[in-house]
Amino acid sequence: MNFRSTILTLYFLQIGFTLLMKYLSYQGDSSPELHERILKYFSEADIQNGIDYGRRGFFASILSQVLDFILTGLFVFTPISKRLEDYLAQKTKDRFYLTVVLFFLVFAFAKAILSLPFSYYFGFVLEHQFGFSKMTFIDWVVRTSKTLTLTIGIGILLGVLAVFVLKQFKKTWKLILPIGSLLLSLLFTILFPILITPLFYDYKPIEEGSLKNKIVALCDLAKIKVDKVYVINESKYSGHTNAYFTGFGDNRKIFLYDTLIQNHTEEEVVSVLGHEIGHWSHNHQLKDIALSTIETALLCFLVGFLFMKTKEENNIHLKEIHSPSSIPFLFLLISIISFFSSPTWNSLSRLQEKEADWEALVLTKDKKSFISTEIKMARDNKSRLNPNPLNVFLYHSHPTTLERIRMAEEF
Ligand SMILES: [Zn+2]
Repeated sequence: MNFRSTILTLYFLQIGFTLLMKYLSYQGDSSPELHERILKYFSEADIQNGIDYGRRGFFASILSQVLDFILTGLFVFTPISKRLEDYLAQKTKDRFYLTVVLFFLVFAFAKAILSLPFSYYFGFVLEHQFGFSKMTFIDWVVRTSKTLTLTIGIGILLGVLAVFVLKQFKKTWKLILPIGSLLLSLLFTILFPILITPLFYDYKPIEEGSLKNKIVALCDLAKIKVDKVYVINESKYSGHTNAYFTGFGDNRKIFLYDTLIQNHTEEEVVSVLGHEIGHWSHNHQLKDIALSTIETALLCFLVGFLFMKTKEENNIHLKEIHSPSSIPFLFLLISIISFFSSPTWNSLSRLQEKEADWEALVLTKDKKSFISTEIKMARDNKSRLNPNPLNVFLYHSHPTTLERIRMAEEF
């Protein structure tokens, strides 16, 4: 089998598997034994809410996925990309980087236009229907425009940088790209709360009082120095709850969603923070960045090899690896490889979540609040309480609510 057919086969496998997983996720796990166990903590209505929310827009999500696959397929397996590059090069009088930027723009816009109706349906219509979204239509338009501008802007910047490396360092790009991505992800972790978060949210330091005191006491107990604790106004957009840490060393900040504070007792907020501290004390973020650097290096070697072999065969319209028209093909290779490597990442992520949960229990010694948090969070976010086991095994980043509760019970 030649490389073109192999890649095409893998691509169809990816499509088929994605759709199968969507179907399994729709089905969930209907075993009566699991149902019984869920009813120890939840009501029939909670279970049904999770099923309804999990199944929302099933056909729309299939359609969106299929359209995206078709678009990518068209750009890769037909001469469209080559013709577009030739056309843009002619218009820009062969100015290489301008052609690259314009090519990225056309490709990104084609994808954005295709996905926009779906993001309106999922992010606005359905979120309202399920009582999560508090946005007006104008709010949604503003938020979506900001997100699109940012992702396309940053995407093009990174893309042009990558093309520059591919073009200038023909022998060493496989080493430069992983190191560059490592430096960029460290930089991004520091800059995100400073530059990006304020574009979407207002946040202010947490008010003085018993909650703040409990948080400070918890951080002291965990021997973690925290610069500031902020409350962020998620309630402006939705009823979803969350909390997270950012930054390194003395720059560390905690962000709590105001929705979390409104819907939970102080002990429960502390339990959530205990979990976040768990991620911190086990250095999960740094480990992830280190591992993803190794993954990027492997990815570069694999993509480089597949590109070279496919180009040698000369039956997909490929120019040089840094040519604008190669971009969709490179994206396709990355997406196929990441698709097959993602189960490993998800297993690792579930392991880390378990570690963080355990740390929360060790720190707070408050299993009651841990369990009531899990119950409230699952209820508030309409989590699927009976997800399909294969789906969980391959694609869930977190253990199921019931697994987390069981661990706390055993603590
Ligand atoms: Zn976590």
